[in-house]
Amino acid sequence: MNLFDPQKPFFKGNLHTHTTNSDGRMNPDDVIERYQAAGYDFLALTEHWKISVESPRFYKNMLLLPGVELDYNLLNEVIHVVGVNVDPSLLTRVDRRQTARRGIREIRLAGGRAILAHPAWSLNTVETLRQLTDLTAVEIYNSVSALPWNGDRADAMLLLDIAAAHGLLLNTVASDDAHFYTGEDRTSFIMLQADELTAEGINRALDAGAFYASRGPRFRQIEIEDDEIRVECEPVRQIVFHSDLPYVRNRCVCGDNLTEATYKINSERLERFVRVILIDGQGKRAWANPIDVSNR
Ligand SMILES: [Zn+2]
Ligand SMILES: [Zn+2]
Repeated sequence: MNLFDPQKPFFKGNLHTHTTNSDGRMNPDDVIERYQAAGYDFLALTEHWKISVESPRFYKNMLLLPGVELDYNLLNEVIHVVGVNVDPSLLTRVDRRQTARRGIREIRLAGGRAILAHPAWSLNTVETLRQLTDLTAVEIYNSVSALPWNGDRADAMLLLDIAAAHGLLLNTVASDDAHFYTGEDRTSFIMLQADELTAEGINRALDAGAFYASRGPRFRQIEIEDDEIRVECEPVRQIVFHSDLPYVRNRCVCGDNLTEATYKINSERLERFVRVILIDGQGKRAWANPIDVSNR
């Protein structure tokens, strides 16, 4: 089985962006121009409790998606949920005093898809992730949660690996959450295989898990055949196969200009999930969605 469709193109996009319409430092027109000029195929402006793009439209060849970020403050953590492809009427039905679960439900009812933002920065727990049913994806990397912008909690892979080891497999995106435009923008993105570059096409691809998160490296294919996972990619330095088993042999494949690697699923040890990671020469990563290997 191939995880990616060899016939379909990949579209590059960022689903989490702020502008001067909320707490971002750049005006919407300049932000849109900046991403389009960098070769992005789609972009969602996701202001706090505000919708900047009322309906999907193209700027040159880049699709702009309606989006929003709903943030909730709890005692021991915060929960920030990004909604993409939402109808603007959503804002009449949500407010900060409701629960995040309700926000996610309203995002879905407004035609959108809900993505949990920066769970490591937010100090979210596995139990919180479990309660947020109906999430379409979680940010495994959030650019602005890195140094020097906002500390050192950009990478949520450990939390998501722990969740997956406890049976909660969540698809993952990487997003900029751009605010400052001083280097955090245009660095984390998703590569998504849609039938067509429309809001509906993107929703369908998000639902199907037909995407991966990246800060640089590119997957070509991930093939699962019997007890083997075979990865093909653009040249990288490391291909890593994370799973719920703390130790397995041949987890890390290293070399110059690696373009493929194979991993044998440890069925006899009841291995349950595998997450494939690519790391390039500059240490930048790509993360495939976790693969459920429990029924083997
Ligand atoms: Zn946030
Ligand atoms: Zn944000």
